[in-house]
Amino acid sequence: MDGAEAPITNGTNLVEVRNLVKHFPITRGIVFQKQIGAVKAVDDITFEVKRGETLGIVGETGCGKSTTARLLVRLLDPTAGTILFDGQDIAAAKKDDLKALHREVQMIFQDPYSSLNPRKTVGSIIADPFVIHGLLKDSGERRKRVQELMDRVGLNPEHYNRFPHEFSGGQRQRIGVARAIALEPKLLVADEPVSALDVSIQAQVLNLLRGLQREMGLTLIFIAHDLSVVRHMCDRVAVMYLGKIVEIAPSDDLYGFPRHPYTGALLSAVPVASATGGRRERQLLTGDVPSPANPPQACRFHTRCFKAQELCSQEEPLLEPKGTRNLAACHFPLSEAEARLRLPAALSGANGSTNERGSRTIVDQSSSSSST
Ligand code: SF4
Repeated sequence: MDGAEAPITNGTNLVEVRNLVKHFPITRGIVFQKQIGAVKAVDDITFEVKRGETLGIVGETGCGKSTTARLLVRLLDPTAGTILFDGQDIAAAKKDDLKALHREVQMIFQDPYSSLNPRKTVGSIIADPFVIHGLLKDSGERRKRVQELMDRVGLNPEHYNRFPHEFSGGQRQRIGVARAIALEPKLLVADEPVSALDVSIQAQVLNLLRGLQREMGLTLIFIAHDLSVVRHMCDRVAVMYLGKIVEIAPSDDLYGFPRHPYTGALLSAVPVASATGGRRERQLLTGDVPSPANPPQACRFHTRCFKAQELCSQEEPLLEPKGTRNLAACHFPLSEAEARLRLPAALSGANGSTNERGSRTIVDQSSSSSST
């Protein structure tokens, strides 16, 4: 990573996803329901995540990134494919196996307002994982542990008996983080954890997650639609479009030289704070995202791609190396000159700084960009 610390991975895979598919059936009829199609939310994706690594998954709304997150924690059942977690296939796991899995895999949700039960105190929300898994049965011990967790995520432990509505959005997300790390999971899946927060609060929550990840040796899958956020959080980034991974690369390679035209378009749309970024060509994506119920044939991006040729609508491009460390699914990847025109130079280090411990700190971007 550019100027940031090296990932704390030991090089072995914690998660291996192979040919994962999730189709939601479209049915017609009231009494006799008949399937007339399917929404192809996730359509044959393959990737792995190394221990201690942070993998970002980005894309527009409806690209399948949140469905992927929910499949990884088995909140949804896959239509096909395998998800190996620590060598165990969780795609086929039964109910009892899932309880054990949820000790090791936890999720942070996008909306800190609706993901917390408004009728429970913060103390009892954070204690829920201990109760569900039959741990810390002594109430005094449980309270002590919960207050330690509150302190760890930057909440005042004396607010143990308060209700969620008494906290701000950022504090509520900290409650969600405390609940997620209570059982010291190996994998944390964060589904757009800051997109519902004020921009001024986002950096604080991101720094909290980054700090916890390094202290606890967590593996993190970070879902976002904001490429500027992902850059400073992630060791590698996967870009999704209409249910497919179209490019995956180490963070520096993806931002330094994107190969897929869709990645180039996303990067060119990242707001730049000042004129120091140099001349940049904004590549506007024309047209709406096609329906995932009826995606375009072959390359799904060909209806919006400025480089599309006849082959693109005839033959599906494979996700394969394109010269650099990037894997991209494209017949005619961006040239260096085309990539350079789209690069937001302001992202090459302007938004992050290195703190005294040598780790990347994300600075408040409220004055420069927003995660729209
Ligand atoms: Fe564009 Fe063709 Fe590449 Fe698809 S395969 S992204 S249409 S150039």
